[in-house]
Amino acid sequence: MTATPANLPDIDAFTRPYWDAAAEGRLLLRRCAACERAHHYPREFCPHCWSEDVRWEPASGRATLYTWSVVHRNDLPPFGERVPYVAAVVDLAEGPRMMTEVVDVPEGDLRIGMELEVAFRQEGTEGREGPDRQITVPVFGPPR
Ligand SMILES: [Zn+2]
Repeated sequence: MTATPANLPDIDAFTRPYWDAAAEGRLLLRRCAACERAHHYPREFCPHCWSEDVRWEPASGRATLYTWSVVHRNDLPPFGERVPYVAAVVDLAEGPRMMTEVVDVPEGDLRIGMELEVAFRQEGTEGREGPDRQITVPVFGPPR
């Protein structure tokens, strides 16, 4: 995965469970059995203590808004057709910070610390890996 919030990720065998869960409407985290801290994005080693004893677990989907930026111009497809959008960093209830996109919140209503809840959006891959391939990416919107 890249640092661009809604950029379409590369999916490999390691991150496959994460994307499969997203397609089913579930957000997964990685939690370290050694130090018990959760992290995101998914890594094979714990970024806090470097333990390899890291497992997938379902996240609550609750988060608070840490920071955001309204993107008015992006020349990379598919973003050009989607501007403006809200690129954001949220603090998941479990602790990890996640780059994402905030949806369904008017720009003027965005507040640091506001409660958000995960939602899922299907995206095409612009023919990068075949014309019919769709992935589901987690985004965040108002709590339901
Ligand atoms: Zn750890």
